[in-house]
Amino acid sequence: MSVARTRLAPSPTGALHLGNARTFLVNWALARQQGWKIVLRIEDLDGPRIKAGATELAVELLEWLGIDWDEGPFFQLHDQSAYQAALRQLAEQRSIYPCRCSRKQLEAASLSAPHGHEHDLRYPGNCRPPGDQSVDLSLLGTTGVAWRMRVPDQPTVFEDEFAGRQEHYVQQTVGDFLVATKAGLTSYQLAVVVDDARQGIDQVVRGDDLLASTPRQMLLYDRLELGQPPTYTHLPLVIGEDRRRLAKRHGDSRLAHYRERDVAPERVLGLLGEWCNLGPRREMSTGEFFEQFQLQRLSPEPIVFTAADDAWLLDS
Ligand code: GLU
Repeated sequence: MSVARTRLAPSPTGALHLGNARTFLVNWALARQQGWKIVLRIEDLDGPRIKAGATELAVELLEWLGIDWDEGPFFQLHDQSAYQAALRQLAEQRSIYPCRCSRKQLEAASLSAPHGHEHDLRYPGNCRPPGDQSVDLSLLGTTGVAWRMRVPDQPTVFEDEFAGRQEHYVQQTVGDFLVATKAGLTSYQLAVVVDDARQGIDQVVRGDDLLASTPRQMLLYDRLELGQPPTYTHLPLVIGEDRRRLAKRHGDSRLAHYRERDVAPERVLGLLGEWCNLGPRREMSTGEFFEQFQLQRLSPEPIVFTAADDAWLLDS
């Protein structure tokens, strides 16, 4: 049997914070315990949101924590031909269609829809052509034209290694989602599937903010005939005391911030260890974390980062 493979996939759109560190550390420990190969992939497709220097800093901070990998870093921006080929394949089989809807039109439609969410607006299908209508392939790569996946009207069921049985109804939540934007950028959903497939990834470990993306990615696996999708392990997020996802308003929880203040990485690992229920916080090496970590010990509840946690880190 071939060796299983996983990936660490930071987006250089912001600084790595303690929540990102927890996810990468758990992914790393699972991989090293199970003998999976680790690929480092920098998800740098999201043009306008990429911050200068963020890639180098992410790599440095992973190393600072003692997290290592076997292959990469691989960059998405370096070779986009595989994304273009996937788009063409989807267009030829009529799994996607061009969409020229403006943001205004979409917002107006979602306001009148019963389940309008602020972030993931459900696409109401304005541009969806009848299933037997062929797609104008000459529109591929044209700016001003986005591409959407034709999502079937049925639920997707899968088993998550941590979160358990999942049933998601993509057509009812987000509808026909984007695979390429009007600016000609490949969407995260498509890029991640193409990359996971071409890098031979069969174990995906990530935060459960991406749980709802998984059925979209499984649909793409199917339509692109990429074989079995990976096994997924989605971890509860780290949140602030106000129960909202970790962000600037919770104070500075960036790894770079602690490193600048000479906090030892072992102290950060100790806090992450406590969050993973490895006993009371104490300074810990990656070796100790690796020896003690057990996925089953994680709580299914989100982890709350408190002012006291921050004070403990800085009190060294
Ligand atoms: N790049 C994404 C992030 O930093 C992770 C994507 C994934 O794991 O599929 O949140």
